[in-house]
Amino acid sequence: MGHALDYLSEELKKLEADGLLLHPRTLDGPTGARASFDGRDVINLASNNYLGLANHPRMNRAAAEAAMRWGAGTGAVRTIAGQMTLHRELEERFAAFKHAPAALMFQSGFTANAGTVAAILGPDDVIVSDRLNHASIIDGARLSRAEIKVFEHRDADHADALLAETARPGRRQLLITDGVFSMDGDIAPLGDLVEVAERRAAIMMVDDAHASGVLGAGGAGTVDHFGVHGRVDIQVGTLSKAIGVLGGFIAGPFHLIEWLQNRGRPYLFSTSAPPAVVAACIEALDIIRDEPERLERLWSNTALFKEGLHGLGFDTGDSGTPITPVISGEEVTTQTLARRLFDEGVFAPAIVFPTVPRGRARVRTIVTADHTEDDLREALGAFERVGKELGLLG
Ligand code: PMP
Repeated sequence: MGHALDYLSEELKKLEADGLLLHPRTLDGPTGARASFDGRDVINLASNNYLGLANHPRMNRAAAEAAMRWGAGTGAVRTIAGQMTLHRELEERFAAFKHAPAALMFQSGFTANAGTVAAILGPDDVIVSDRLNHASIIDGARLSRAEIKVFEHRDADHADALLAETARPGRRQLLITDGVFSMDGDIAPLGDLVEVAERRAAIMMVDDAHASGVLGAGGAGTVDHFGVHGRVDIQVGTLSKAIGVLGGFIAGPFHLIEWLQNRGRPYLFSTSAPPAVVAACIEALDIIRDEPERLERLWSNTALFKEGLHGLGFDTGDSGTPITPVISGEEVTTQTLARRLFDEGVFAPAIVFPTVPRGRARVRTIVTADHTEDDLREALGAFERVGKELGLLG
């Protein structure tokens, strides 16, 4: 007798046959610029730990002390009995970090995006969304049951045309973009999009998961980078990348935050972040303030590594951030490139369809503030050796 779930085994076999089954590597210790994955010490170009905070001694201490003082868990969702002064303090700090009136913590960046989009729009409304926006935006859009219109990547004119075409009296429109696109490292044309949103009286929302702590003065994000303070209605941030821990954020006007406290479903129906997480995030904001050299090093490392890859002759796309793709196009070659780099002591994952379009497969690299120049030069040496071996370089 078969089991009702047997079809999943068939589906998994298909994924395996297509080279799409995931086999994540496992860290044997803390993450860092160099780390041990699957028992091998490698230069880690795979994490989102932009500022090197995930294993910073001050962060670890803040987490440990909070656990000892406040306990391991909160015991409830925020709206019942799980709100601690720590959560309120982090929200105030994050609002200031984003130069926004108020902020609200979610359990992840994913739930911040999905929970917010779903809470502010309904079936009569429309969402105009960049083709390469994150999955959590797409899921939130579907949950809202609003009409979804997709504009070509970073094409503000196309977004404008879609807003014009879908406008109806009484209909709300949301223009939404990632601030930095996670697979390409390119930056949204936020200045142009803000103008479009203002012209069409649309709500403007930016997902700054990869820009918070990275772009703009003090890492404030794309709003600061483009000088459009006060002109973006909703800013999303994550606490899991540059901030180094876990969680998500919405920053915006007080009435938005109060609405989400009443209608944001992940906020309402899922238990609040534990004290160790929240305290470490507060500490991260202090470290970002106290150690501005981290942000400087992130960008000098970015320049060194990007120029190195480009100089070797790799196709590195149109990135303007610490994310640099090495695009080889072909899926199997890309998998081989990632595997051979790992053999040579460099971890940079292969990203293939459906995460990126077919024929645009790439190895994705992310440098952090903690990489030394030696780390990066050694990694470039491995890229050169393996690139030549696979015929990717002239
Ligand atoms: N938005 C973007 C653009 C992301 O890359 C990610 C993380 N993959 C998220 C949102 C979700 O953030 P989190 O990991 O905090 O859920």
